[in-house]
Amino acid sequence: MPDFTLTTAPDGVATITWDVAGKSMNVLSLAGIAELDGLIDHALSDPAIRGIILTSAKPDFAGGMDLRVIAQMQAGGAQAVFDGVMSMHALLRKIERAGMDPKTLRGGKPIVAALPGTALGIGLELPLACHRIIAADTPRAKIGLPEIKVGIFPGAGGTTRLTRKLGAMAAAPFLLEGKLSDPNSARSGGLVDEVVPPETLLARARDWVLAASDADLVKPWDAKGYKMPGGTPYHPAGFMTFVGASAMVTGQTMGVYPAARAMLSAVYEGALVPFDTALKIEARWFTQILMDPTSSAMIRTLFINKEALEKGANRPALPDSPVRHLGVIGAGMMGAGIAHVAALAGITVTLVDATQEAAEKGRAHSETLLEKSVRRRKMTPGKMAETLARITPTTDYTALGTCDLIVEAVFEDPAVKAEVTRRAEAASGAIFATNTSTLPITALARASLRPDRFLGIHFFSPVDKMALVEIIRGKDTAAEAVAKALDFVRQLRKTPIVVNDARFFYANRCIIPYLNEGMRLVAEGVTPALIENAARMLGMPLGPLQLIDETSLDLGVRIARATRAAMGDAYPDGDVDAVLFRMADLGRMGKKAKAGFYAYDDTGKRLGLWSGLGTEFPLANPQPDLATVQKRLLYVQVLEAIRALEQGVLTDIREGDVGAILGWGFAPWSGGPFSWADRIGAGAVAETAQALADAHGPRFAPPDLLVDMAAKGETFYRRFAKAA
Ligand code: NAD
Repeated sequence: MPDFTLTTAPDGVATITWDVAGKSMNVLSLAGIAELDGLIDHALSDPAIRGIILTSAKPDFAGGMDLRVIAQMQAGGAQAVFDGVMSMHALLRKIERAGMDPKTLRGGKPIVAALPGTALGIGLELPLACHRIIAADTPRAKIGLPEIKVGIFPGAGGTTRLTRKLGAMAAAPFLLEGKLSDPNSARSGGLVDEVVPPETLLARARDWVLAASDADLVKPWDAKGYKMPGGTPYHPAGFMTFVGASAMVTGQTMGVYPAARAMLSAVYEGALVPFDTALKIEARWFTQILMDPTSSAMIRTLFINKEALEKGANRPALPDSPVRHLGVIGAGMMGAGIAHVAALAGITVTLVDATQEAAEKGRAHSETLLEKSVRRRKMTPGKMAETLARITPTTDYTALGTCDLIVEAVFEDPAVKAEVTRRAEAASGAIFATNTSTLPITALARASLRPDRFLGIHFFSPVDKMALVEIIRGKDTAAEAVAKALDFVRQLRKTPIVVNDARFFYANRCIIPYLNEGMRLVAEGVTPALIENAARMLGMPLGPLQLIDETSLDLGVRIARATRAAMGDAYPDGDVDAVLFRMADLGRMGKKAKAGFYAYDDTGKRLGLWSGLGTEFPLANPQPDLATVQKRLLYVQVLEAIRALEQGVLTDIREGDVGAILGWGFAPWSGGPFSWADRIGAGAVAETAQALADAHGPRFAPPDLLVDMAAKGETFYRRFAKAA
């Protein structure tokens, strides 16, 4: 089955339709590129064809390049990548010039892209080479160039074309942040030329082709006297843009994402030369980025492995069992969030709380979020009413009788959870999940009559935003329960990892040492700004002190008390608690309290590090160097992830890497802790860990697994390879 087909109408307008068989979304493959090339040649040379509509038979235009193709290209080496990119440029340039005379710029055939829905990555770069882009007014559609989010940048001319079309300043949010727009915002942002009702899309495209003149086909950059909007780098206004952009990229990426810097170089250098040379420069920088280990690690983790997990890589081989009726017990922050995302996914939800008022409040949370979507035109009022009607708030447990999955999100108290488990099981035979963030699943399952149908489904806060869901197998959890949880997560379009039961599971287990190390550094008198900046310069989205403020100190205090009670004399974090409890005594509980490690104004806006920290925790002299602080903050996380693998909490390193980035924001450029360790080498990681252990304590001691791997010269991805 071809990906592209061409049909010609009697009026001479040809339609090239993109429709990749067996996929819900078109993606461009190497075979697809060759087919499209052949069809364009045919259409341009056939005198019976007057012009071309490029469209899709699916609800969307395209999701982008098949990133597996990029992984294959990377394996072929730099020259192969460069040659492949240049042949893509040749195809798009052929579309853009459309057979016109290069001197007179006359005689070309009009080519219009008609986008029924989403158009991402190459799915927008291809239209950008056409003479006009018409998009259907489909509010759910996303249009943009998200490449930067997986560590690359638009390398099929999108970088060069968009900056020449909009100017560097206006193109910056689309290129540097990967900003996605709905069709109307895409038109006001200059990404597409026209938005029309979906049912008129093809007719409008046809009219445009039939009416197009020679002048309509000439891109501004091919016309005489072209000047880049906003100015080139040597123009006074352009100069300001480029200086600002460079500072912004460094500020936002802290220098750890080579793709943003390379893209900026491609734009800057490309702006100084003719268009075709600019494409060649873009291709050189793109090749450099594709050959950088950062992009391969990010693509592997954030695309290939994430998708494999979403498709059920670790799902027991059992029949599909999507959730039809969900019970949620506890309509607080988490329970209301879970009910909301489930209702959005079309699932009927019974939301139980101790009082009717609390249950109603949970549903009101969903109403607030839905109203926001309607205001932003992301949802129709009808769809909102339909979604909200799926949630029934109640105090009556018997309403759970027809549920096939129940998730409890009541207070983090084993006695309350035990009581709720018993009442739910008396009312329903559903699989029962707890959303606990800290209590071991196996212990909670003791309250259950059916521990084989009991497991953890751990959502992160805020539920509607966070993509990761951690599924935790208790000692007795059966495969059927895991399969159900995975089907549920798939319905919600989130990313699952499946881990075994141990204190704090995986994500919290690794993030807590990071937060603790931040407080330990404060206790040692390290300048707080050095701690926070060291973390940001590692690529962590938030420094440890800011993250503590965001999650609030009372959570930390509660966890510290519970852990201390559970571990007794073995409790290792006394020095951390000195800082934690002192801050709590001062009432500086974090962002919610508008006072924490940071100072906040009355509206809760973060101002800067709290000036009193230096008095409360006197500064040491001399201060450690940046690299030492960075190593400590990085290694506490990586070593904990390795321990989670060694102890069998993690059973798949892909989950370790995906879970780290989506769960707690572990430096995304690295591809995750295991990808990072592979890049550095087990030997070097073990050696640095040992040096840190000698200087700062046994928490840095290299795990046996790492030492063994170092001795054998192994990498995680080879030793723990799963069919991926
Ligand atoms: P919350 O205090 O906002 O909500 C708890 C809700 O449970 C309240 O509405 C309360 O009325 C209700 N409740 C208490 N006892 C009940 C009972 N016997 N029957 C029915 N309802 C009852 O708490 P939360 O932050 O939503 O946390 C809930 C659970 O989720 C906890 O186990 C917590 O550890 C876990 N969790 C929290 C977060 C987070 O960031 N807050 C993240 C992941 C997991």
